[in-house]
Amino acid sequence: MATYKDHEIPGQDQSFLYKLRHSTAHVMAGVVLERFPEGKIAIGPPIENGFYYDFDLPRPLTREDLEWIEERMREVIARDYPFVRRVVSPEEARQLFANQPYKLELIDSILAAGTDEYGEKAQGNTELTTYRHGNFEDLCRGPHLERTGQIPADGFKLLNVAGAYWRGDERRPMLQRIYGTAWPSKEELERYLAWLEEVERRDHRRLGKELDLFSTSPELGGGLILWHPKGGLIRYLAEEFARQEHLKAGYDFVFSPHIGRSWLWQTSGHLEWYRENMYSPLDIEGQEYYLKPMNCPFHILIYKSRLRSYRDLPLRFAEWGTVYRYERSGVLHGLLRVRGFTQDDAHLFCRPDQMPEEIDRVLNFCLFILRSFGFEDFRAYLATRNPEKAAAEPEAWEAPTEALRAALERAGIPYQIDEGGAAFYGPKIDLKLLDALGREWQLSTIQFDFVLPERFGLTYIGEDGAEHRPYMIHRALYGSMERFFGVLIEHYGGAFPVWLAPVQARLIPIADRHVAYAREVAARLKEAGLRVEVDDSTQRMNAKIREAQLQKIPYMLVVGDREMANGMVAVRLRTGEDKGPMPVEEFLKMACRVIAEKAPI
Ligand code: ZN
Repeated sequence: MATYKDHEIPGQDQSFLYKLRHSTAHVMAGVVLERFPEGKIAIGPPIENGFYYDFDLPRPLTREDLEWIEERMREVIARDYPFVRRVVSPEEARQLFANQPYKLELIDSILAAGTDEYGEKAQGNTELTTYRHGNFEDLCRGPHLERTGQIPADGFKLLNVAGAYWRGDERRPMLQRIYGTAWPSKEELERYLAWLEEVERRDHRRLGKELDLFSTSPELGGGLILWHPKGGLIRYLAEEFARQEHLKAGYDFVFSPHIGRSWLWQTSGHLEWYRENMYSPLDIEGQEYYLKPMNCPFHILIYKSRLRSYRDLPLRFAEWGTVYRYERSGVLHGLLRVRGFTQDDAHLFCRPDQMPEEIDRVLNFCLFILRSFGFEDFRAYLATRNPEKAAAEPEAWEAPTEALRAALERAGIPYQIDEGGAAFYGPKIDLKLLDALGREWQLSTIQFDFVLPERFGLTYIGEDGAEHRPYMIHRALYGSMERFFGVLIEHYGGAFPVWLAPVQARLIPIADRHVAYAREVAARLKEAGLRVEVDDSTQRMNAKIREAQLQKIPYMLVVGDREMANGMVAVRLRTGEDKGPMPVEEFLKMACRVIAEKAPI
């Protein structure tokens, strides 16, 4: 998930931030127990950009509670209590937390499993420690600041309360989680809060509703997306553009069904290692069929449908394939985490000697497509062989891994090597992009696969007349159309580049007598391929402009007596810029150039 990059703030000491946020969480928990002496405390770790603490309280927390707690926290900070660490024996710890059942459970699991209070391995150390400030003592491995006074009284804020199951387990009690944030200074806190506000303003779920792009509905079921006409048009344009480019790049389009026999998923291994992501089978005449979680086995069957020679390769099978994967209802999130989605999927089959060029081509293709949407900033992660679990011989991994690395090098993309991070079936590149708010999103993947060609017995006849195994590469560029759309909405805050805007221009007649002329201009622009509307409502001009601006329509074309007399339109951009009156043909030329260049406006 995308985040605010606090570690990129120059001169920021990560260990200080950790201690600051963890200490603020302790101070908060102490105050919550003051307000609810019968309250039970669970865990309260620092997280990126802040902290949280989970509580079991007699009633739901209100906004007033949070304000009261913040106020009291400032008093605790002002008292400048030291944070005191001590080692406690299991007996002491159980006594100390006798009224805190969650802590007792943590103590048991720390002692039993050698994990710390967050369930992380405690490096062979099952020592129980506590930290105390004032009269609040918490089971904790630390580290902490030395004194509460080191927390800037104007550098923290409690943000919201959310429900969270104890230990993330839906069969356990639902607790109240208070999220907060803490920074070394008021300025840094304010900068972060402004960023949060911007994130909220661009939330794709909210814009999806406001701009009538897509919806989800309980009647339909969680994680399933309905694309409305305006969202559907953007998807159509994105797909159509990519389809044309795929054809130019030597891909063949294939189509495959949504279900397939269990034989397919057994052979591919999905039933073995991917089953928890798949839905229950359908029974068709006594045979089990599964909804597809991936498109690969279908493309493999197409490869296998005839004898392949070295001259046929490379083969590039592309499909906008809709797949279904099980996600728990608690993690579903707008367009970003869904149960049914369409991948812009392709599988490349090539000879070993073709592989480095194939990788170069696919990476550059990927960058070209993403750049066409205005994304400029990329980070790549190259995942290499995990010696613990890896298909094929170590030597088999060398050439593909090197080809992936060399392609990144040549493309000039900053990359990190995720040593041993590959799945067992092959090395891969994950390409992430940075959006307008500096958040990192994972969309594209280029993934080698040593396993499926083996399992399905894929071969080609080489120049030597013998059978050889082809290389197979899975790749998706947008990743999923749903997720890509979500990222696009948030990156642009709904103000899409003109070539993607569902409505590109809206004619705004000043009075009734201008409506006929507005319609005439609209017809001319439509003829030239623009997507145009006429606002012939009885509202006043300013209200019409405001409305068009809310809908993020790139061009507002105001027409009154003067424009009508001279064959002109007065052009206003959604950015607020006023271009003034110009002949209709001149506007058309300008708009067509912006569209052809895929410029924002
Ligand atoms: Zn695949």
